[in-house]
Amino acid sequence: NLFNMVQDLKGNIRVYCRIKPTFNPEVQNVVDFIGKDGSLVVVDPKPLKDGKKMFQFNHVFGPTATQDEVFRDTQPLVRSVMDGYNVCIFAYGQTGSGKTHTMYGPPGGLAKELGICYLALNDLFELSDQRKDITNCVSNDSLALPDATLRRVKSAEDVINLMKLGEVNRAVGSTAINITSSRSHSVLSVHVHGEDASSGSVIHSCLHLVDLAGSERVDKSEVTGDGLREAQHINKSLSCLVDVITALAQKNSHIPYRNSKLTLLLQNSLGGNAKTLMFAHVNPEGDSFGETMSTLKFAQRVS
Ligand code: ADP
Ligand code: MG
Repeated sequence: NLFNMVQDLKGNIRVYCRIKPTFNPEVQNVVDFIGKDGSLVVVDPKPLKDGKKMFQFNHVFGPTATQDEVFRDTQPLVRSVMDGYNVCIFAYGQTGSGKTHTMYGPPGGLAKELGICYLALNDLFELSDQRKDITNCVSNDSLALPDATLRRVKSAEDVINLMKLGEVNRAVGSTAINITSSRSHSVLSVHVHGEDASSGSVIHSCLHLVDLAGSERVDKSEVTGDGLREAQHINKSLSCLVDVITALAQKNSHIPYRNSKLTLLLQNSLGGNAKTLMFAHVNPEGDSFGETMSTLKFAQRVS
């Protein structure tokens, strides 16, 4: 399959790019070409500017890619958690580019649109039913993160309930536990404990599923006071994660995990033998071209 094939050839960080569909045909679309080999060409919507730019990723999912297609290319990585690997899957991109769609699906949890968090948990629980030697359980750590909401789940249905809760919270204007908020990171952690019946070795691994805050720069004129401090804090933890991923991709000897609580939380699933998958999300609308370019440049740098 796709993941293991590229995994053998390169390091432990994979990058998939996903292009959001545009719903308004009047809007200019910057995506010029999507190759089956993971290439992507975008074109500057302003004439006489940069022209066309080509990027290369492990795979590009176009606007018509379904949630199931995306999960199919992610499933082997998810399943490797049962073989003892620590795995981190995170969604990166500006607000409105489709991060929450990929990780959770639309608010409310429509059955045919469920995202990776639900599909991965479902798959892991099914696998652990088949493999009686493995017990699947959830984290007991009570990390209080000011910049991330850590969610505990015991079943795939818990994920759907979280999504419904997100919708309720949106309806009442609360962001306390809101997957649909673009101003916080959301981390869903699955811990696997067990003993491999054949080899007798103990398995202790975890899967972190991370829906990051929007990567766009905070415009200081738009938020003030506590809101600004919160936004700067979230931006700082996001840039700390970017620093860690960049250092890992460059195979630096020092990886700056300690600079934020987010990177400390994810430390055991980033680097070492851990497997990391980043979804770089793109809103192909012309107005978003600046943010699209910075997302694609970062994603290409680490892939
Ligand atoms: P983000 O989490 O990056 O801010 P969302 O996931 O909330 O972005 O996506 C913004 C809007 O676009 C939502 O209404 C979402 O349902 C829709 N959307 C995003 N990606 C897709 C997709 N691949 N197919 C259909 N709708 C999508
Ligand atoms: Mg979101």
